[in-house]
Amino acid sequence: MKKIIKNAIIVTMNKENEIIRNGQIEIEDNLITYVGVTRESDGDVIDAKGNIVMPGFVNTHCHLAMTLFRGYAENSNFRNWWMDYMRPLEEKFEVDDCYYGATLGMLELIKNGVTTVADFYLHPEETARACVDTGIRTNIAIGAITGKEILSQESLAEAAESISISPLIKPILYAHSVYSCDESQFNELNKFAKSNGLIKSTHASETLTEVGIIDNKYSMTPIKLLESYGFFDTPAILAHCVHCDSDDIETMTQYDVTVATNPSSNLILGSGIAPLYSFIKNKINVSIGTDGAASNNNLNMFKEMYLADNLQAGVLNQPRAITTIDALKMATIRGALALGYDNLGRLQEGYLADLIMIDVSRPNMQPLNDIYNNLVNACESNNVIMTMVNGKIVYKDDEYYCNADYRDIVDHCNKIITRIDNK
Ligand SMILES: [Zn+2]
Repeated sequence: MKKIIKNAIIVTMNKENEIIRNGQIEIEDNLITYVGVTRESDGDVIDAKGNIVMPGFVNTHCHLAMTLFRGYAENSNFRNWWMDYMRPLEEKFEVDDCYYGATLGMLELIKNGVTTVADFYLHPEETARACVDTGIRTNIAIGAITGKEILSQESLAEAAESISISPLIKPILYAHSVYSCDESQFNELNKFAKSNGLIKSTHASETLTEVGIIDNKYSMTPIKLLESYGFFDTPAILAHCVHCDSDDIETMTQYDVTVATNPSSNLILGSGIAPLYSFIKNKINVSIGTDGAASNNNLNMFKEMYLADNLQAGVLNQPRAITTIDALKMATIRGALALGYDNLGRLQEGYLADLIMIDVSRPNMQPLNDIYNNLVNACESNNVIMTMVNGKIVYKDDEYYCNADYRDIVDHCNKIITRIDNK
């Protein structure tokens, strides 16, 4: 049956940045079939009651199961956080721990208005199971996840096959970083990306320590090293990019490269502030990621969008360095394009029905003088009252509509942490 959302303020994020008041969206199966003013039409009606309907957020860099380690290792820098805290904890993981951690992360994302997430973590088949149970669209990393994997075209094909259990899942090729992976791993990913048309991703230039290590070893920057590996020959997403110099930026402009910025994680671990303004000015695609909850503490795209925008204003002493429309595009359409979707991240006919409803009746959203400003600078994840993925409502008015039971998942996660702590 057709679904009809009526009486909405529709923030389309289309090419004209159109906002439609008294708008209506019609959805058949998983696709949007009409976006316009409210009209007579048959179907299941959802009355938006004047609230905002916009595309769901696209989180282009996350480590979902690290939700289990929320609050661990605060006040440490990246290297201590990773080597002294995260690695030893991960060694105590049992395979299905990743299912529970990923599911908790997905439930948090759904509640916060995220409809697509790119996940880079251990046991990708467990993340795939979590995706099936929660109903969020997921790009799941396969490849050199810890850096220790020996990759081949066969092992990559097998890994891709093992996670392809839902139309909501797409594989994304991944090598952790240039300091934990070697050239042969990048070569295998490049080859597989070319023959299968898949997007690739890695962490790049996250910390000054990383830049120093790569300079000592190769006498070049991480970006230049990736270029020498041929990593940019097909579309790639680079997470963090905090320490990129003007040569790096010039290099990046020559390829189909997206920066997935993670401002909270970079602040908490003392990594720095990425030069987003320069990326955008040089027409490099920028998207937003939450990173994992172990380095961010939550998976909240509103916070990331606010920081991505306003840190540039503060650092550059330039109030509108990044416009609020740009910030919203980074969190929606630009993320969708980065992940290789050509029909996601906008509300328009023929696009996937991944959308969220924002309650504008609450005090922090009134008055609605400037909708884009309110969404970036005033809105909070608690304003999200409905999340729809692929035409299906997965969250509405504080209730989940999926196959994962929130209480059960939380109980399991707490048991996992008790077990790991006592090992
Ligand atoms: Zn990361």
